[in-house]
Amino acid sequence: MARVNENFLKLASGYLFPEINRRKNEWAKNNPGISIYSLGIGNTTEELGPSIASAMIEKVNKLSNRNTYTGYGDEQGDAELRRELASFYEKEYGVSFPLDYFFVSDGAKSDAANISEIFSQSSVVAITDPAYPVYVDSTVASGKSGNFNGNSYDGIVYMDAREDDGFLPRPPKVKVDLIYLCSPNNPTGAVFTAERLQEFIDYAIENKAIIIFDAAYSDYIRDEGFVRSIYQLDGAEKCAIEINSFSKNAGFTGVRLGWSVVPKTLVCENEEEGVVNRLWNRRQTTFFNGASNISQAGGIAALKQEGRRECRRLVDYYLENARIIKTNLEDIGLKCYGGANSPYIWAKCPNGLSSWDFFDFLLAKAHVIVTPGSGFGKNGEGFVRLSSYGHREDIIQAVNAIKGAMNE
Ligand code: PLP
Repeated sequence: MARVNENFLKLASGYLFPEINRRKNEWAKNNPGISIYSLGIGNTTEELGPSIASAMIEKVNKLSNRNTYTGYGDEQGDAELRRELASFYEKEYGVSFPLDYFFVSDGAKSDAANISEIFSQSSVVAITDPAYPVYVDSTVASGKSGNFNGNSYDGIVYMDAREDDGFLPRPPKVKVDLIYLCSPNNPTGAVFTAERLQEFIDYAIENKAIIIFDAAYSDYIRDEGFVRSIYQLDGAEKCAIEINSFSKNAGFTGVRLGWSVVPKTLVCENEEEGVVNRLWNRRQTTFFNGASNISQAGGIAALKQEGRRECRRLVDYYLENARIIKTNLEDIGLKCYGGANSPYIWAKCPNGLSSWDFFDFLLAKAHVIVTPGSGFGKNGEGFVRLSSYGHREDIIQAVNAIKGAMNE
């Protein structure tokens, strides 16, 4: 008799986005003909940079010709792309890594989830609260947690990120084996300073723990004093895997391309040096046949000088959206975090409203969808996340609608 994987059964139902859609659809049904604006989703809306798009078109042309056609590529990712990544790390972060530290993938979400597989099921996992839900769900699905207790999962160590501490977590007080960190953070927009991130590196080295550092929004960091790659800090190559993506800086949310850096110098309990890199290589070359060669051609172009300029312009656009949202909400007295060095604005619900109450208010009165903060963890209660991904004109209309509703 076939039996399903009981770890998947432990997953509490994906409540957040289905529930947002249910409320949105119900409201639309009862209020036909009224447009709804969305500040809810982290999905890019602006077109690809010209040099990046041309590189992909050129690749399609090559694939359309028998003499230049290619099939499966290098298993760990196109060597030219990995060379560009290595030189990017050197130029931007001053770190020099060999090509076999880089693994190209179809995006940061898959890597953030799949990396869990190569670590022992008995690993104790620490996760920031609130955080991108994939870290918790992949921890549960890979058998590293107990059951859902109505509020959180037994066995996971939640690292509180609180308003009075800049929404940054502190290292756990107990011994853990794996630590998920994301900076700039989705949903709070909090960004690690060197001092605060170094605390985690010191903890990880002392406890032989491994940090999985999700840097998917690193290109949004424009101010001095923040860490863009964990490898800018001493000791990180002994304890950190870095995950990144072309989704939010090059607009590849639909194109799909990301990468992970897995140093051979990582230290793991009772294992020889290099084991994590070897097992990730084994995992990827066994269960993954590489990212699309068209996407990889786009990725190579995105890392060249012109491509980097195009990515910067794209990120500038979303950062300006974020600034518009934040300053306008602050004008009407809402307390906002993030929105600078991050595409997300983390707004405190007024008058002690819960996340869902404020969501309902904004839907009914402003016809604007936001994301309830409680969907990202218990510390998200009392906040909503607003996303800067949208056409400028839609963002302005949505913000004006919120201002109108709040001033009523
Ligand atoms: N990591 C974080 C923190 C995210 O917010 C997202 C997407 O919203 C991802 C990863 C997913 O990235 P990708 O599109 O490369 O899978």
